[in-house]
Amino acid sequence: MKNLSARRTLTGVVLLLGLCSLETQAQQKAPTFTRQDTLRGTITPERAWWDLTYYHLDIRVNPADSSIHGKNTIRYKVQEPYQIMQIDLQPPMRMERVMQNGKQLNVRQEGNAYFVQLVDAQQKGAQNEVEVYYGGKPQVSENPPWSGGITWKRDERGKPFIASSNQGDGASLWWPCKDHMYDEPDSMLISVAVPKELTNVSNGRLRGIDNNPNGTRTFHWAVTNPINNYGVNINIGDYVQFGEKYQGEKGVLDCDYWVIRDNLEKAKEQFKEVPRTLQAFEHWFGPYPFYEDSYKLVEAPYLGMEHQSSVTYGNGYQNGYRGRDLSGTGWGLKFDFIIIHESAHEWFANNITYKDVADMWVHEGFTAYSESLFLDYHYGTQAGNEYTIGKRASIKNDRPLIGHYNVNHAGSGDMYNKGANMLHTLRQIVNDDEKFRGILRGLNRDFYHQTVTTQQIENYLSKHTGRDLSRFFDQYLRDIRIPELEYRVEKKKLTYRWANAVEGFDMPVKVYLNGVETWLEPTTNWKEIKKIKAGTKLTIDPNFYVQDGKGA
Ligand SMILES: [Zn+2]
Repeated sequence: MKNLSARRTLTGVVLLLGLCSLETQAQQKAPTFTRQDTLRGTITPERAWWDLTYYHLDIRVNPADSSIHGKNTIRYKVQEPYQIMQIDLQPPMRMERVMQNGKQLNVRQEGNAYFVQLVDAQQKGAQNEVEVYYGGKPQVSENPPWSGGITWKRDERGKPFIASSNQGDGASLWWPCKDHMYDEPDSMLISVAVPKELTNVSNGRLRGIDNNPNGTRTFHWAVTNPINNYGVNINIGDYVQFGEKYQGEKGVLDCDYWVIRDNLEKAKEQFKEVPRTLQAFEHWFGPYPFYEDSYKLVEAPYLGMEHQSSVTYGNGYQNGYRGRDLSGTGWGLKFDFIIIHESAHEWFANNITYKDVADMWVHEGFTAYSESLFLDYHYGTQAGNEYTIGKRASIKNDRPLIGHYNVNHAGSGDMYNKGANMLHTLRQIVNDDEKFRGILRGLNRDFYHQTVTTQQIENYLSKHTGRDLSRFFDQYLRDIRIPELEYRVEKKKLTYRWANAVEGFDMPVKVYLNGVETWLEPTTNWKEIKKIKAGTKLTIDPNFYVQDGKGA
């Protein structure tokens, strides 16, 4: 879950581009980026040489002074010998010392990046580790989950209710890590000490609880699958737990629900949504990708986020998006938006993860479309169609869906609803729902637990649809214009072409000629059909996200 409208670095750009919404990307003025953006968003030489294999994040969270202290043990495999390692940690958190093989290492700080000078030789293929000690009062989130940081709240009984959320801004807001999405540890242990009357819920499975002499308890959560860094989370509160076993495609899936004590009864009712969510998404996308780590819904003091195997929930135990239907069709009130949307991210975000946030449409486009697929599964194709078409009203076409690479820059917030409408249009082109479903399942199988680029996804879709979709993706991902089908009926001749489109745009489109289904293969050059009835009326299938250029 991530709405980008509040992203501080983009505000000026959005205003600027709003004035010239018909320009193509090439004509738009590029935003400016800093060296810090490059250090954050690039696979720098100080990152590239080591492959992350394991994290043990071991921290104490102190609600009394809103601080976090502890260490992260980082294990890695040497790909190429190199002696400088980049670790990220954002002020006001401070790195206190870095150790390797019992030696304290010299560290040079440059803003959010720390460059650690390793002493011992780094031999190719070796498995090494560093321990990073750190602490401080992390940034407080002003508007979770859209602005990153820690949320320090209290529940209605006055007990601390605390959570992290940091997509986009970065996990290094609160713990030291390789804060770039291309590399994930193969597994992770998250150990969090909190005052003994509270519980911490993180990702994966609860391996044990230690009672400490200082009046705290440490919760150890083990994740046995690769995990992206923004997915790692802490949720601390007066939690109670219930659960169920879901009979899924890969066997029994443990589903555990952690909610604030007073919300138990409401949660038992509302979370009946989970089995039917899993049923719909296993149908469309294939097996839930983290059976080993279980599925969890965890109540959070903000709307929600796709934390891996620890989906956070704050939708107020009601259907819709905070009780509203984002599509304006009524279908959005048939389900709890946060449960459906954030759970779908287990496939598109946590299973298949972008390497660069510029390709964030891969997470949000497929996930926004999953809402329609959920409706399709439970209420029929027409329901899903209406929902997706209904969400067009909120598309701005302000900037392309793809952002700038290597500077931690995401594309337009249209990646949600325009992304969904692009995929819905693609589904019409495929014109075979079983084939389309096979492709969605194939993506999750062939890119299982991987980080990807948009190009990999685009190539996969071209290959498996059997059609070169490069112009299609250029149009919808890299341009802001919505293609317009221009056509004229003159006497007994129909002429048609794509206008307002990228060069060579060649998408087929389903139309009705006097109500009779007909496929056209327009290009940006005029084509014609002869010998139609005079006065034939053409209507475009409304499932295609295009403009009707009648009378052009
Ligand atoms: Zn999302």
